Amino acid sequence: MTNPIYQTVIVGGGFAGLFTALHLSYQHYPRTIILIDQHDRFCFKPLLYEYLSGEMDANQVVPSYAELLHRSGVIFVQDTVQAIDLHQRQIHLVSGDSYGYSNLVLTLGSVTGYFDVEGAQEYAFSFRTQADAIALAHHLRDCLQRAIQLNDPEQRRQLLTLAVIGGGPSGVEMAATLADLIPQWYIEMGGNQSEVRIVLVNHGKLLEGDINSQLRETVEKELQKRTVPVELLLGVAVTAIHPNMIEYKRDDQTSNLAVGTVIWTTGTNTHPLIKSLPIPDEHRDKHGQLKVTPTLQLPDFPEVFAGGDCTVNLQPSSDTQKSAEAQPPKAIPLPPTAQVAYQQGYAIASNLQSLALGDELKTAEVNLRGTLLKLGLENGVANIFNTVELTGEVGHLIRQGTYLELLPTPVHDFKATSKWLKDELFEQRSPKSMLKNLALGFFLFAVGFVGITLLISHTSKDQIQLKSSPSQTSKGKDRLLPD
Ligand SMILES: Cc1cc2nc3c(=O)[nH]c(=O)nc-3n(C[C@H](O)[C@H](O)[C@H](O)COP(=O)(O)OP(=O)(O)OC[C@H]3O[C@@H](n4cnc5c(N)ncnc54)[C@H](O)[C@@H]3O)c2cc1C
Repeated sequence: MTNPIYQTVIVGGGFAGLFTALHLSYQHYPRTIILIDQHDRFCFKPLLYEYLSGEMDANQVVPSYAELLHRSGVIFVQDTVQAIDLHQRQIHLVSGDSYGYSNLVLTLGSVTGYFDVEGAQEYAFSFRTQADAIALAHHLRDCLQRAIQLNDPEQRRQLLTLAVIGGGPSGVEMAATLADLIPQWYIEMGGNQSEVRIVLVNHGKLLEGDINSQLRETVEKELQKRTVPVELLLGVAVTAIHPNMIEYKRDDQTSNLAVGTVIWTTGTNTHPLIKSLPIPDEHRDKHGQLKVTPTLQLPDFPEVFAGGDCTVNLQPSSDTQKSAEAQPPKAIPLPPTAQVAYQQGYAIASNLQSLALGDELKTAEVNLRGTLLKLGLENGVANIFNTVELTGEVGHLIRQGTYLELLPTPVHDFKATSKWLKDELFEQRSPKSMLKNLALGFFLFAVGFVGITLLISHTSKDQIQLKSSPSQTSKGKDRLLPD
């Protein structure tokens, strides 16, 4: 057991936890920082599709904590948290070790939710971790290899049919990626790409109830433009998943679809460790997520901070802020996204530093700036402030560049971002020193239309559209551009 005096322990090294640790380190935080995660690698989830497809490698998408935290002063512990004792201020690990703390940061994320659909957990692939991506890629290649050896077209058809369950951003990105990737892999093995079927299954319309819903039209068009067009099975409820079959209901009528692969992209649940905490119901939402104060502390345990997907953080909506004099601002939950988690990590670190220095804590502010979606291999859409929409290869480059810029070390900053921008986007036309500034311009959305138009002329396939409505709300499970 370690000495709890002046020791800050962060449990969960995802977007919120890792960035809390890194910001603390940058600020020369005067206390010991311990980051605990069950894996030895940070998972940059928005780029997991690129890892599956081979468009990006493990160093970019799942860099090791050892590399990310090199010379940061942060102590990294690879272990699984088994129990959290908020009263005794102790973290118990599966290895048998325990850590005491003076301050704790809870950033454990969430887990997949299966809505009690029979067989979903057993027979559908989830897609949240490096291991998930490796297992899926392995299975897909195995299906293709088996298919190519089969003479029976029906059996081949089944193995070559992939169902993606969930029409939110993850389902759309997954279906679009597979609809380009699987035909490519199958052709390489000598197969006929027209036999591949990608079916996107959803209970309602695509992206319904999500901030990305204004991109529905673009998304539907892009899904049809993939190497094999994505088939949409909408307005159905998946009722069961069997080893080679999904069962679904529409208007009380049950049907089956024979498949070789099912990928589950919908539904999240509260992390079991978060559920187990002695926090009363009034300080949780209806799903059990933790409600935090504006300074991101737990109301019942102010020495504990929390952020990211394991919390529900209410912020005044921008619409109601304007009329705050007349009535109290309406609070809306921030969406469970990487951008929110990353910004909360920064806010938690600032408040921990203030606490250590005896300064006043500040309200965490999170800005929502736009949305990014992957819509196939080297294809994407970037929606900026709901005002400019960039699709095609340019949308893809902005999306990938934005995320690469967010990768947390100078090593990645230079090796990945600058090289990538240089090779792919600017083709050595600009002075080296300007590359980063230009990229940052995009990421901060300070780029003017002239710059964007110049960029567009790079390739005729891409499209730029100006949107009429500038309104920006944070409803739903949106995907947002990093700060
Ligand atoms: C495939 C996919 C694509 C996505 N794409 C986007 C996107 O394009 N844009 C966007 O904004 N958001 C996207 N998201 C959502 C985004 O990744 C999450 O909102 C974000 O990761 C939340 O950060 P977090 O720190 O709260 O949790 P996480 O990043 O999930 O981190 C939680 C950490 O806790 C660790 N952990 C959990 N349990 C334990 C334990 N018992 N012991 C030790 N460690 C533990 C985990 O290993 C993990 O590292 C995507 C999510 C997925 C799954």
